Amino acid sequence: MIVAMQETATEEQIQDVVEHLVRMGFSVHRTTGERQSILAAVGARIDFDTRNLEVLAGVEHVHRISAPYKLSGRAFRPEGSILNLGRGVRIGGDEVVVMAGPCSVESREQLFTVTELIAKAGARGLRGGAFKPRSSPYSFQGMGEEGLKLLREAGDKFNLLVISEVMEISQIPLMLPYIDIFQVGARNMQNFNLLRELGKVRKPVLLKRGIAATLEELLLSAEYIMSGGNYDVILCERGIRTFETYTRNTMDISAIPVIKKLSHLPMAADPSHGTGIRDKVPPMARASVAAGADALLIEVHHNPDKAFSDGAQSLYPEQFAKLMDELRIIAPAVGRKIA
Ligand code: PEP
Ligand code: MN
Repeated sequence: MIVAMQETATEEQIQDVVEHLVRMGFSVHRTTGERQSILAAVGARIDFDTRNLEVLAGVEHVHRISAPYKLSGRAFRPEGSILNLGRGVRIGGDEVVVMAGPCSVESREQLFTVTELIAKAGARGLRGGAFKPRSSPYSFQGMGEEGLKLLREAGDKFNLLVISEVMEISQIPLMLPYIDIFQVGARNMQNFNLLRELGKVRKPVLLKRGIAATLEELLLSAEYIMSGGNYDVILCERGIRTFETYTRNTMDISAIPVIKKLSHLPMAADPSHGTGIRDKVPPMARASVAAGADALLIEVHHNPDKAFSDGAQSLYPEQFAKLMDELRIIAPAVGRKIA
């Protein structure tokens, strides 16, 4: 951390700041320039609040150099993490993993129809919500355990990994036998108790970025899971809330290369929630792969007009198959292939 003192800072104020830093566990190197003194604080401590120094008398500016996270940071595994998801699917390497399916599991007929179509098109994972976080309590809330059973059955039949959203701690043991990847939704990115519990399980967790979360906050949330011992975390950009109203959210494609630089964890993209509009999903999916995404999460429905949730952003199966063909062209152009 660098602490720049004001030009008018007195020797007493500078010494006070030095003492604060030493008490915090830092060793301090002072440079006295012609106009101002600069204090460089070096140490292993990462859980400090720079504001505690900013408010001290005589301090002009405090600049943090080390990241506030360590397990999720790139330095922890500079070569990058490749996670084994099961069924021979690896994420974080040269393959891009596509997971697709309906927003919600609605019925056996619906799920098996969509699953067959996405499997034929080349998806490796089946997504579908059994517990749905809906903005309105009057909207469809999901099929619960019955939905999980259907997901497992459909995944097994078509050789797909199953990913589904966990909304609260009590659902973890219920979901364990049925799913391959836990999805933590945008609304729960900072549900720290849930994240801690997911740190104790030995199944991968896909952690979505909150609608108003910074990338540092996303990495700190990943840190909650990893500090519990579960290192199999996948991050996911799913759009953030901005002043733009044309799209449901603003798909932050730049989050992909930023996270790839800051973290060793695989980075997924969800252009369905990222845009909220069916026709905008394929372009953002293509852009995500071009930008370096390790996985895509895409909503597909065979009859989206009748979908119980997110029909407007769900691709028709033919649209999804076309997108997969396009991705098979784009991925090699950026040194990747579709898993
Ligand atoms: C979903 O995947 O259907 C979902 C609810 O996602 P998010 O948490 O990104 O809104
Ligand atoms: Mn959805």
